Amino acid sequence: MEHQSIKRVGVLTSGGDAPGMNAAIRAIVRSAATRDISVLGVRRGFSGLLNGDMVELSGRGVNGLLPRGGTMLYTARCPEMHTDEGLEKAANMCRYMGMDGLVVIGGDGSFRGALALSQKGIPTVGVPATIDNDIVCTDYTIGFDTACNTAIDCIDKLRDTMQSHERCSVVEVMGRKAGHLALHVGVAVGATCTLLPEHDTDFHSAVIEPIRMGRLNGRNHHVIIVAEGYGHAQDVATQVEAATGIDTRVTILGHIQRGGTPSAQDRVIATQMGYHAVKILMDGKSQRVVAYEGRSVTDYDIEEGLSREKHLDLDLFEVEQTVAT
Ligand code: ATP
Repeated sequence: MEHQSIKRVGVLTSGGDAPGMNAAIRAIVRSAATRDISVLGVRRGFSGLLNGDMVELSGRGVNGLLPRGGTMLYTARCPEMHTDEGLEKAANMCRYMGMDGLVVIGGDGSFRGALALSQKGIPTVGVPATIDNDIVCTDYTIGFDTACNTAIDCIDKLRDTMQSHERCSVVEVMGRKAGHLALHVGVAVGATCTLLPEHDTDFHSAVIEPIRMGRLNGRNHHVIIVAEGYGHAQDVATQVEAATGIDTRVTILGHIQRGGTPSAQDRVIATQMGYHAVKILMDGKSQRVVAYEGRSVTDYDIEEGLSREKHLDLDLFEVEQTVAT
């Protein structure tokens, strides 16, 4: 049942940015506007909330936002939210600004902030957005597909030059402590091997042996994907060069993976999630996180959602191991 008492909601982006955050903001503003709910865009994450750094967003104000990377609201980390004074200040600001609810677009840290605010009486909903896809209660996080495509595009270009010079390329892919991004990229570029934090490997059998097999199968160049959480790409390259004698170069893709216009998948899922976030608040619910499960959008209690465990896609991992060389 929809609660007509909701008159104004806030929206902020927090933690690391991800392509599709703008698409989610647009969907939230448009979904609210059609129900005569006004939207306050809070700039610079929770620090903007503490400082009252906000702007009224209209349906027209988000025109042209859908294909834009980054976040029009800026994003930041805010250590003050870890203190009770900071949380009180943030909750009081929500009340002072007349917010009947707050949508937090970000990662699991941002959802802990949303959870703490809901415990102070502010209805909150989290929308998962991070290129790492490491949020436990959802199969998908906004930005993941675009980041995969960006990494693939860069590695395809690298491959051209590696092939010409018969080199080995060691490429470090983002993902913090999780290997989801690296695994998908490794499969998509046909890497010789992919090194993941979740998988404890014997270096020789995981890296050197696939290179040897690749050579026997006629490969004159090699691509090794190293997940950020696995270790340093340079250490991997040094060991490869020492063991094989192949000229080996390191590329750290870095923040380029966070940029760019969102893919079709990120635009669609961000739009669905933004719409659901407003609906959840209108249904009078709080302390929820929007999640993608199977092929549909659902929601969980934030506390319950964050206490789940997320595992690497073992089926995809087996595929990667099988077809790599
Ligand atoms: P990313 O996955 O890109 O790192 P994130 O949302 O996990 O995104 P964090 O830096 O962990 O990023 O958190 C963003 C902000 O959320 C913090 O700077 C802080 O303001 C708030 N936050 C994080 N954890 C808590 C917590 N336990 N209580 C209150 N607020 C928190």
